[in-house]
Amino acid sequence: MTSLIDQARQYIPGGVNSPVRAFNGVGGDPIFLSKGEGSKVFDTDGKGYIDYVQSWGPMILGQQAPEIVEALQHQITQSIGFGAPTELEIQMAKTICEIFPSIEQVRMVNSGTEATMSAIRLARGFTGRDKILKFEGCYHGHSDSLLVKAGSGALTLGVPTSPGVSEAIAKDTLTFEYNNIEHIKEGFAKYGSELACVIIEPIAGNMNLVPATEDFLQALRILCDEHKVVLIFDEVMSGFRASLQGVQGITEVKPDLTCLGKVIGGGLPVGAFGGRKDIMQFIAPCGPVYQAGTLSGNPLAMSAGLAMLKAIQKPGFYENLTDKTQYLLSGIQKAADKANIELTTNQRGSMFGIFFSSESNLDCFAKVMQCNQERFKAFFHHMLDEGIYLAPSAFEAGFMSAAHSYADLDETIAAASRSFAKLK
Ligand code: PMP
Repeated sequence: MTSLIDQARQYIPGGVNSPVRAFNGVGGDPIFLSKGEGSKVFDTDGKGYIDYVQSWGPMILGQQAPEIVEALQHQITQSIGFGAPTELEIQMAKTICEIFPSIEQVRMVNSGTEATMSAIRLARGFTGRDKILKFEGCYHGHSDSLLVKAGSGALTLGVPTSPGVSEAIAKDTLTFEYNNIEHIKEGFAKYGSELACVIIEPIAGNMNLVPATEDFLQALRILCDEHKVVLIFDEVMSGFRASLQGVQGITEVKPDLTCLGKVIGGGLPVGAFGGRKDIMQFIAPCGPVYQAGTLSGNPLAMSAGLAMLKAIQKPGFYENLTDKTQYLLSGIQKAADKANIELTTNQRGSMFGIFFSSESNLDCFAKVMQCNQERFKAFFHHMLDEGIYLAPSAFEAGFMSAAHSYADLDETIAAASRSFAKLK
């Protein structure tokens, strides 16, 4: 019988609906998943894997969390969608504004891509300027302006600047080095008065896991204020992951606008952008900057998202996730040291990065690119054989969920130990 991937390739480009899923970053064919339960996902042959991908971040409660399933079951008896205002949207907006003090108003969209694309249009409309500034290795979704020197799948596939993005658009996107304060000062001295916004992943999760330093974020805030530039934190990944308030829970720096996604949808397609009220009032129908969506704020995504936001606000939720992530990384590090494999890890809350490198301070794209990618590929496949599902790319962060048990973590560490032995 024709394999699933061959069937898929016949009808879907590359057999996948999002490129990194194709295993281009690690070689071989992707696994097809059919069921999830707690910390595990199961392929179509019934083989189970401890899941550190978690649908690329959203599944912070694990698969089939009872709270989310119940919320969806209830909502489905009421309505799947209206395209009209609902009370659920007020609850969602209010909850986001309460969790993120920098967000005074918020608009829901359907993906992280829509959130960043809309936030940039808003910043351009608000400032009357065209240029935007981003950082090498950060990924902000696949809208044209942001696919210039991008991270994530664009990086995994070796096309950080995509064909199809016109020169006219690319010329308004300036790309600077992450965590390099001198470089950014030079950039502002030259382009400050033409810049609409700076967009940054304040913890980059799309060139593996690389946090911005506090000094760097503070320098950005000061420069943006001096030049009246909108500072956008893209917390689509780090939001509700690095801490309840994302990076904003662990830095003093507050952005003007924040982009969210992933966790707030409880696993359903969702995104949001919000921030200063005076800026958000520029969006239609209040203001002239157009932005819309047929399915935006749809009741299923809002119900799942609200159930998620309730669950993650329980006392001790983040401490537990952080402890487990630390436990996993320290176990993996010890196993690597024992096997004489050069390895470094990064962690913020429930997000982690594993680098095959002896460099202890992995703080920018250039250093990430020097890590041993061939080693990662071999490690990935050994771990997959062992029933451990890591992101199929050396440039993606890993995630911990509330459903992961210490037994899962011990199993993962033991598998890593055996995998390291095979790498030599
Ligand atoms: N911003 C960041 C920081 C992301 O990690 C992602 C997706 N991984 C996006 C934006 C785009 O989100 P989506 O895939 O939902 O469009």
